[in-house]
Amino acid sequence: MKSVVIATHNQGKVEEFKALMQNLGIEFKYLADFPEIEEPKETGKSFAANARLKAQYYAKITGELCLADDSGLEVLSLKGAPGVYSARYAGEEATPEENNNLLLLNMKMQTRRKCRFFCALALANPAGKILLESSGTCDGILLHEPHGTGGFGYDPLFWSTELHKPLGEATMEEKNSVSHRAKAIKKFCHQWRRVQC
Ligand code: IMP
Repeated sequence: MKSVVIATHNQGKVEEFKALMQNLGIEFKYLADFPEIEEPKETGKSFAANARLKAQYYAKITGELCLADDSGLEVLSLKGAPGVYSARYAGEEATPEENNNLLLLNMKMQTRRKCRFFCALALANPAGKILLESSGTCDGILLHEPHGTGGFGYDPLFWSTELHKPLGEATMEEKNSVSHRAKAIKKFCHQWRRVQC
């Protein structure tokens, strides 16, 4: 059985990966199994570049196949911002609430509110070679104020055009049925089955 390190510290993401990849015959390992490893700096200019950078970094250090993701929110009328800076839009140590408040401020006078979540995935081997890549998007409209308390990050500001409701009011099952990460993981699974890494 192949083993793969899921290269994220986010437990919610770990559960999503496990649930969607359970039939691939993969033995999962986690960053919690390698507590001595420091996080790399996410210096990429795109989600794909950051996913690759993280997968290669962790694969080289652990000596295992590593699957990494990078995701965030892109607002069309802000030319794709906050983009790769989604987690630190209002500053390096910003809370999700501070990020959301700054985004609402920057969008105050804006009537064009189309946005999307984007997720990039990359699988690297210990030599640093990228073996597989995939991506997924989740389309929406940026709300004028927070709705609901579900999800995380920008979810309360995001009206899902697929679910017809704010992600902050969606159940986890509903969100997983349309999320950028779930779509990227499903594509990844198809590729994995084809190439048998
Ligand atoms: P990460 O680097 O993939 O962990 O995500 C970066 C940031 O993007 C997060 O801190 C959130 O602000 C935002 N983000 C990514 N995915 C989601 C989502 O599904 N809902 C809400 N915010 C998200």
